[in-house]
Amino acid sequence: MDAVNDPVYGANWYATAAGAQGLPRRTLTRDIDVDVCVVGGGLAGLTTARELARRGWSVALLEARRIAWNASGRNAGFVLPGFNQARERIVERVGRDQAREIWLLAEEGMNYVRRAIRTDRIRAADPKPGWLEVEAVEAGAELAQQAEELNTVYGTRAEFWPTDQVRAALNSRRYHQAIYYPRAFHIDPLAYASGLAAAAEAAGAAIYEQTPAVAIDFDGIRKRVTTPQGRVRAEHIVLAGGTHMSGVLPSLEATLRPIWSYVVVTEPLGAALAEAVRFSGAVSEAEGSNHYRIVDGDRLLWCARITTWERNASRFAAKLQGEIARTFPQIGRPPIAHAWSGVFGNTIHRMPQIGCLRPGVWVANGFSGHGLNTSAMAGNLIAAGIAARDDRWRLFVPFELIWAGGRAGQAATQAYIWSRRFRARVARPVLAMFRAAPAADDHEVAGDPQDTSIAAAEAALSGGSGRNRRGRKATPAALNDSVNPAVADGPV
Ligand SMILES: Cc1cc2nc3c(=O)[nH]c(=O)nc-3n(C[C@H](O)[C@H](O)[C@H](O)COP(=O)(O)OP(=O)(O)OC[C@H]3O[C@@H](n4cnc5c(N)ncnc54)[C@H](O)[C@@H]3O)c2cc1C
Repeated sequence: MDAVNDPVYGANWYATAAGAQGLPRRTLTRDIDVDVCVVGGGLAGLTTARELARRGWSVALLEARRIAWNASGRNAGFVLPGFNQARERIVERVGRDQAREIWLLAEEGMNYVRRAIRTDRIRAADPKPGWLEVEAVEAGAELAQQAEELNTVYGTRAEFWPTDQVRAALNSRRYHQAIYYPRAFHIDPLAYASGLAAAAEAAGAAIYEQTPAVAIDFDGIRKRVTTPQGRVRAEHIVLAGGTHMSGVLPSLEATLRPIWSYVVVTEPLGAALAEAVRFSGAVSEAEGSNHYRIVDGDRLLWCARITTWERNASRFAAKLQGEIARTFPQIGRPPIAHAWSGVFGNTIHRMPQIGCLRPGVWVANGFSGHGLNTSAMAGNLIAAGIAARDDRWRLFVPFELIWAGGRAGQAATQAYIWSRRFRARVARPVLAMFRAAPAADDHEVAGDPQDTSIAAAEAALSGGSGRNRRGRKATPAALNDSVNPAVADGPV
């Protein structure tokens, strides 16, 4: 591995592109007065700043280190529809109409990213269309039905791909059917974040780096944010610090469970890669921990594995090499050029925290492993809430702030991650065989929801109702969620 290890951005491949991080920005060294103070320079904070500045509001964004130095600039770059929670769970909580409404907002978040790249000419973000969510077990009719529902009810374009079509795109015997999302795409997220920051500044926002908010006084019409060398007075404060807010707001940070995920970029693989992966979009395994895409012509970017405590990313390189070899034996264990990790925050309900906590105090957090579209959505909702008294953010009120359980919660999550990994690796394929056997003789019986032996086995494995085997799945598969079977992980 010959990766450059930037002291702030890490061994992140995106940070090696010329000018990727941009020049360091000034630190706040005096007292200032603005309409809105945004705390946190990840994608949520940057989107909010861009949108408010474009509407003519004076905005100061405070970033403790450098913009997008962690999750926002280190992620896999998949810009997807939906959330990190299964649609049926959202429906259970808010009903079908509201579920549809917020799903459409998330879709709009995805479209916002595409538009911002075009409008602000963020060429380095290099968007490439398409996302394929592949099954590693037989899932035919059920998957086709899901694609149908996405199209007809949720306004998300989705196509069912049969196994032949999938294997023509991805030369792996592990794969069966898939759902193809033609409007989803993938990007270089650090380039995108840099472009958003530049656009916010061009519209008049002031961005301060190396400027942590260390205390916030929420009382009064004008709130006060204290940083080591200066203070900000503002009518509105937007809290968009992700999992890094413990120094200033431990109670808010306690509503997020930090989850680390791991990414590698291989050395150029030439013809071997072209023979294995003939698809230029993003790929996720529906019930596995693997998410990948081709970057830089013939390198593979592979994102997998999650832990509730930070582990050494270079150690994980070997595990990810193993995943690549298992999926594409023709590639084998490829040489790794870069390996890094990033942390994101999970909420208990697996939905983002978006809204107004009290007059003038806004929160945009908890996007988990599905934050590219949802942080864009949040930034837009909050900017519209502040500037136009648009109250669509209230659609997220049912997903309130809930304590994430502290260290015990983290340990429980890790145990859950292992159990999901067991399910994805061992139990689910076995169940699929069990399910497939009667199908050959008797279709009715195989598809019968009253088939209690399968239902009960699934319920026991999923810890859920056993209604169907995709019942607990976030659809489309969220990336890297501790409580998402799409990303089940093993002991590390
Ligand atoms: C490895 C990995 C892969 C992922 N892949 C995908 C993917 O492909 N698609 C997808 O949709 N999502 C993905 N995600 C999730 C996505 O990256 C995140 O959900 C999203 O970036 C979160 O953005 P954010 O702005 O909330 O948080 P962050 O990016 O964490 O930004 C918060 C910022 O706030 C700053 N801050 C915190 N406290 C303070 C303070 N007191 N004062 C000043 N600044 C402060 C921090 O320094 C930080 O820069 C991935 C995440 C990881 C880690």
